[in-house]
This record gives sequence, structure tokens and C-alpha cells, in this order.
Amino acid sequence: MNSVFEPLVREVLPAIVAFRRELHARPELSFQEHETSRRVREELARLPGIRVLDPFIGTDVVAVLDGAGGGRCLVLRADMDALPITEQTGAVYASGTPGVMHACGHDGHTAMLLGAATVLAGMDRPLPGRVVLVFQPAEEDGGGGGQLCARGVLESLKADAALALHAWPNLPVGTIGIRAGEAMAANFELGIRIRGRGSHGAYPHRGIDPVVVAAQVISALQTIVSRNIDPQDPAVVTVGCIRAGQASNVIPDTCEMTGTIRFVRSETGGYLRQAVDRVVRHTASALGAEAEVTIRDSYPPMYNAPELADLVVQTGRAVLGKDAVFTDLAISMGVEDFAFYAQRVPAAMFRLGIRPADRETYPSLHQSDFDFNDQALPTGIVMFCELARRFLEGR
Ligand SMILES: [Zn+2]
Ligand SMILES: [Zn+2]
Repeated sequence: MNSVFEPLVREVLPAIVAFRRELHARPELSFQEHETSRRVREELARLPGIRVLDPFIGTDVVAVLDGAGGGRCLVLRADMDALPITEQTGAVYASGTPGVMHACGHDGHTAMLLGAATVLAGMDRPLPGRVVLVFQPAEEDGGGGGQLCARGVLESLKADAALALHAWPNLPVGTIGIRAGEAMAANFELGIRIRGRGSHGAYPHRGIDPVVVAAQVISALQTIVSRNIDPQDPAVVTVGCIRAGQASNVIPDTCEMTGTIRFVRSETGGYLRQAVDRVVRHTASALGAEAEVTIRDSYPPMYNAPELADLVVQTGRAVLGKDAVFTDLAISMGVEDFAFYAQRVPAAMFRLGIRPADRETYPSLHQSDFDFNDQALPTGIVMFCELARRFLEGR
């Protein structure tokens, strides 16, 4: 790595590895990050020149490192929450909480932001501006980022821009990736309730079977993306959950389903909203049942401001090497509540490679054998620090 921060990053690394593993062993679900945020506050309180603010929404930790008078203000954000998944990594520091694990690398994100705070606070010369560290709750479930933004965290600290990273299993350690402009999808949450009429399983003609209706509805929904959306325009309709009945020989009254609708362009989102509603209602009614459809806004699309994406690319090339920055990435159909920040200030999120160079594959995010790779910690820390320096120096 080619960076003035490298010696300090090496110095703090053992403590940051230990902290990452401590978080991994004690994962907490969205909005329940009590111990995680307490530990982050505790560690930040030891650093010189850092002001830790009172919580904005509960388990958030927002801290400010004031630089040498005036200048711009950059937000660096990490998410802290874990997922309701039973860990199967076999790591010595595996989750001690049954059914909960850090399967999205947020333990790594939190540890790297603490590492960057430690390095920046330890510099002899202050930066020419202000760095705000946002340790955010509830990225996975509940949109902690949206709530924090709604509370005015960016405006109250006069943020000029915001940057974040996400662990990325497809990219090798020591590399980063970023796509300028549209980078990640937006989503709606879909709820469907099919009302038929219950009956004995042996006498289907006396009822209206909502399970059979649901099967037709699920199949019909597949035609929207495949037949009505331009193949060049990314969109997904997934039914992920279906619930009906209690017994093998009873036709139930209702069948409930939930799913996710994803898109990048807002016009496509508008089309999907009305098409899903129409297909579900009319398919159900054709079969004599009734359907209630609810489609709720969830996360907006993630848009990487071109000037910030360029800063990430230039910084990555200078610090990690010319070949260590991937820019030809496809749009991810994943969603990210960092997109709420991007609606208010120019923002960019880059992907941090975590796959060991000698491995072809790496477990996916949200998989029970996923674990953040500690080898990527120094890359993330140095990128956060260099981005802060270069942004505030106006380079
Ligand atoms: Zn996730
Ligand atoms: Zn994540």
C-alpha cells in the first residue's frame, strides 16, 4: 500500500482484528445493537479529539473529528447489525448467540471505521476539515439509515458528502470496485393475501382452494419481468415466503405470501407496482378467489455520485495499485440503506474485495458459512483514511 497512513494502520491492526472478532462473536439484530454500540462508544471515547454525540435514534453512534478550522465535512458510514441466520463457519470466534450471525460483514465494516477513526485521531497534523463517523444500526431490517437521515443527521453536521464500503466476496483481497451512477437496486416489499373458501381436502368442489390460486399467482408473476420489462432494464419479482394451511387433508381459507420487487429506474418501479397488483388480483379473481395486495416502498436505488466515484477510483489506484480498482461492475440487485444518504448529499459506496487471492470462490453474503476476511481490514481502513484526506484537501 502506498499511503502516509500505512505505518499507523499496521500499528492499530492487531486491536482492530481483535475487535472485529469480538463483534463477530456477539452479533446483534437490527435496532438491537446495544452492546455493539456501547463497545464502539467506549473505544471512541479513548481517542483524542473525537466527540461522540448523543444517539439520534437509539443504537446509533455518531462521532465527530474536527479538523483544522473550516473546510468541508465528510461522513464515513459503517453498518453494525447482524442477521437471523445460524452460523456454520466453524470459526473459533463464531457467534455465541443462537440463530444470529454476522453474515453480511458488518462486523468488518464497524471494525474498519473504528480503525480509521483511530488512525485519523492519531495523526500529528489535523485534516483540513471535519470527518463524521456514523456507526449505523439496522441496515438489514428496518432502514436505520433512512431513520438517521430523517432525523437530520447529515444536515445538523453540515455534511458535504458521504462515503461507505461493503465487503464483496467476488473481488480479491487488496482490490476495490465501484460503479459510477446507478449502482444498486431499489425495492418494494410485497404482501399478498389470497382469500378462498376452506373445505375438506377430499371435497375441493365445495370450497375455493387458495393454495392452488397462489400457485397460479406465483407463476403468473414470473411473466411480468420476462414478458413486459425490457430485457436491458434490470428488474426482479421474487415471492420468498408462502404460508397456508395446517393439515394435509384440509383446504384452508387463506394463503399469504410475501416477496420483494426490485428495480433500478423509478419508471420501472412504477410499472412493476401496478403490474404486480393487476396480475395478482385478476389471476385470483379468474379462479374465484379474492386477493389483497400491499406494495410498500422500501429502499431507494443507490446512486454513486460520479465525482465521488472518481475520487474512489483515483484514490484506489494511487494507494492499492493501478490494477486493484474494478470499475466495469454490473449493477447489483441488492439494496442498501446507504441510498438514503445519497438522496440528501453526494455519496458513493465502494465494494471491498475479501476473497483470498488463492481461492476461486468465497461464500456469498447472507450465507451461513460467510465470514468477513480479516486480511481485508487494512485495505478498508487505509481507503477510509485516504478518502477523508483527499476529499478534505480538495483533491
Ligand atoms: Zn446484508
Ligand atoms: Zn450488508
